[in-house]
Amino acid sequence: MVVGVINDKNRCMNIVVCVKQIPDPASPGALDATTHALKRDGKLILDESDAYGVEMALQLVATAGSGEVYVVSMAPNGETSGMRTALAMGAVKGLLVSDPALAGSDALTTAKILAAAVTKLGGADLIITGTESSDGYTGTVPEQIAEVLGLPSVTFAKKVKIEGSVLKVDRQSESGYDEVECTLPAVISVTAGVVEPRYPSFKGIMDAKKKPLDVVTASDLAVTPTGWAGAGQKIVNVTQAEARKAGQVIEDDGEAFGKIVDFLENLKLI
Ligand SMILES: Cc1cc2nc3c(=O)[nH]c(=O)nc-3n(C[C@H](O)[C@H](O)[C@H](O)COP(=O)(O)OP(=O)(O)OC[C@H]3O[C@@H](n4cnc5c(N)ncnc54)[C@H](O)[C@@H]3O)c2cc1C
Repeated sequence: MVVGVINDKNRCMNIVVCVKQIPDPASPGALDATTHALKRDGKLILDESDAYGVEMALQLVATAGSGEVYVVSMAPNGETSGMRTALAMGAVKGLLVSDPALAGSDALTTAKILAAAVTKLGGADLIITGTESSDGYTGTVPEQIAEVLGLPSVTFAKKVKIEGSVLKVDRQSESGYDEVECTLPAVISVTAGVVEPRYPSFKGIMDAKKKPLDVVTASDLAVTPTGWAGAGQKIVNVTQAEARKAGQVIEDDGEAFGKIVDFLENLKLI
C-alpha cells in the first residue's frame, strides 16, 4: 500500500503523528484484576513521548513552508483530551478510533488500526510516532505500522531533515548516531528530548475546541478486532518494579574526577 504523495514543487508536507492517550502518570495507575491491563476508564492525557512527535511534525511543516499536521489515536470511551492538547499545539485535525470491540487489542492490532486511520486521513508524506509509550511501552508499534503500510521505518530519530523526497535522519545508537536516509513516505519514531515541545497558548487551547476531530470504529476502518482471545501477546504476570537502589557517593579527595570519568565510561556515556 502506498501512502501519500510528495509534492516536490512546494515541498508540501502532510504529516500524521500517532498520539497515545494515557492515564495521568501523576496518579498511581490501577490494573484490571483479571486481564492485568492498565485501567483506562478515566481522563486520558497526551503521552509526553508523543508531544515530541507533534512538535517535530510542526517544525518540519514550518520548514517545508506548507502542509498540515494531523493526529491519530486509538483509545477507549471516545476519550479525546490528549488529542485536544496536540490540536492546541498546532495540529489541524484528529482521527480517533474508539470501539468497545477493541478491548484486548495487542500491539499488532493497535498498529493495524493506526495504519488504517492514517490511510483514512488520505495518507501522509511522513508518519511520526514516539519510540515507546510511557504506559505500555512494547516499543513495537512504529515498526509494525510501517510493515502494515509497506513503508520504510527509521527508529530512534534524534534529528530529522527532509530534502525533496529524501528523509535524512540522525539515528541514536549506543555509541553516538548513524546517518540514515530513505525515500518518503516513511515512518519514523522519535526519541524523547529531540525537540522542546511548545506549551499550547490560551488561543491554541480555545481554537483546539473547534478543530475537527472525527471518531470512528474498527469496522469503519475495515479492521477486524481480535479481542483478548485472538491477541498474539498475553499479559501473563505483572510485578512491582524493583525499588531504586541508593546512588554512589564520591567524596572529592582531589581525584574525584577520575572516578566520575570511570563511572560514566562504564555506563558508555562518554
Ligand atoms: C493481550 C493484550 C491486551 C491488551 N488490551 C488492551 C486494552 O484492552 N486496552 C488498552 O488500552 N490497551 C490494551 N493493551 C495494551 C495495548 O496493546 C498497547 O498499549 C498498545 O498495543 C500500544 O503498545 P505500546 O504502548 O507498547 O506502544 P509502543 O510501541 O511502546 O508505542 C510507540 C508509539 O506508538 C504510538 N502508539 C502506540 N499506541 C498508540 C495508540 N493507542 N494510539 C496512538 N498511538 C499509539 C505512539 O506514537 C507511541 O509513542 C493490551 C495489550 C495486550 C498484550
